[in-house]
Amino acid sequence: MRTLIKNGTIVNADASTRADVLVDGERIALIGEELNLEADRTIDAAGKWVVPGGIDVHTHMELPFGGTFAKDTFETGTRAAAFGGTTTIIDFAVQPRGGSLRQGLDAWMEKAEGNCSIDYAFHMIVSDVRDDVLSEMDQLVDEGVTTFKLFTAYPGVFLSDDGAIFRAMQQTAKNGGMILMHAENGVAIDVVANQNALSGKTDPYWHGVSRSPVMEGEATNRAIRLAEVAGVPVYIVHLSSRHALNEVRRARDEGLPAYAETCPQYLFLSLDDMGNGFEGSKFVCSPPLRPADHQEDLWQGLVKDDLQIVSTDHCPFDFHGQKELGRGDFRKIPNGLPGVENRVDLVFHGGVAGGRISPNRWVELVSTAPARMFGLPRKGVIAPGADADILIYDPKRTWTISARTHHMDVDYSCYEGREITGRSEVVLSRGKIIVDGDEWLGKAGDGRFLRRQRSPRNE
Ligand SMILES: [Zn+2]
Repeated sequence: MRTLIKNGTIVNADASTRADVLVDGERIALIGEELNLEADRTIDAAGKWVVPGGIDVHTHMELPFGGTFAKDTFETGTRAAAFGGTTTIIDFAVQPRGGSLRQGLDAWMEKAEGNCSIDYAFHMIVSDVRDDVLSEMDQLVDEGVTTFKLFTAYPGVFLSDDGAIFRAMQQTAKNGGMILMHAENGVAIDVVANQNALSGKTDPYWHGVSRSPVMEGEATNRAIRLAEVAGVPVYIVHLSSRHALNEVRRARDEGLPAYAETCPQYLFLSLDDMGNGFEGSKFVCSPPLRPADHQEDLWQGLVKDDLQIVSTDHCPFDFHGQKELGRGDFRKIPNGLPGVENRVDLVFHGGVAGGRISPNRWVELVSTAPARMFGLPRKGVIAPGADADILIYDPKRTWTISARTHHMDVDYSCYEGREITGRSEVVLSRGKIIVDGDEWLGKAGDGRFLRRQRSPRNE
């Protein structure tokens, strides 16, 4: 199958070009001006942009959390991702405590296999650092699971102490992988959260207040300094506050291989959204939403490359029946927000339409940098030889986000009623049209597991 995309503007991270694109099979075959070649199908992209498909490096489909499961399956979650212009996800497999990495990876492979409509890969959550686990980490890197996430939060569930984190870092320094950190001081945060809850402050709002941004800054610095001594690159996930950003910037100014992502919720939502009684539970995630004055600092972090990537931390729970588990006690509200469908468009809207970043920087944040950082050399670029994961993007289209029309399997939207500019019109995954306007043409099982390379930065 050959597809010719005519008259569009190719927007890559490094440049924008008026040119046609020929897709042959699963790859981009040729780029040139006014290509007049035979093709099975021609797409007229006049007035539109031709953009590499989005890569969301932080999702949690079907994650078990707080006695329930994140609502989107790999099937519903990858379909929603595709409608929102994302053609690759990297999800998190979880090591069961007391079990092996292999057990965790096998379980997540099984959940994903045959169900994804777009390509997928995994990071590994290491929740129990032992000698046998350290040697398993080397095997996983060889199998394309090159990144390990550890937590300074969630005592008793995911938290590793500094010694365990440091041992995992030393191992990863040797095997060429990278460490991902959820950086909040969870032990101290739990003290504050318990004090608040026991004094009757039980509304969702107190989830936000209990998790001070200072505790994120502290844990971010600690993770970076442990990594510095271990000699390993470190990537701070879902960075939410200027306190943490300042630590990342300082480390980068020192020349350390420290990286970070933020998420749309920290750019568009704030602690104010967590008021309004139990409605605020819709916005409970960790790190929590911050006072609104953090937002512009995070945008500046994206402008200046102190933050390299925007991911979602997509982890949706229904308001009815799931978030409600925490009625009367914010500590029992499942942590997480839906977002995989909205990332590409929200970053376009706030970034490009909002006048903060160039179209090229937008592509870099949502696609190219994720591909480079996480070892996916055939993704994140419109170029001959690359996978034909392509968005025909309408930068002028204005539309309204709503749970009534979104494709995520969750009963609310954090951005309900928000009018935004920018939307994918057609989405190709490895040469196949999977979204055409509002029509779904993809198929569960067409997505492939991607073995990732060691990040070029780490070799
Ligand atoms: Zn997460």
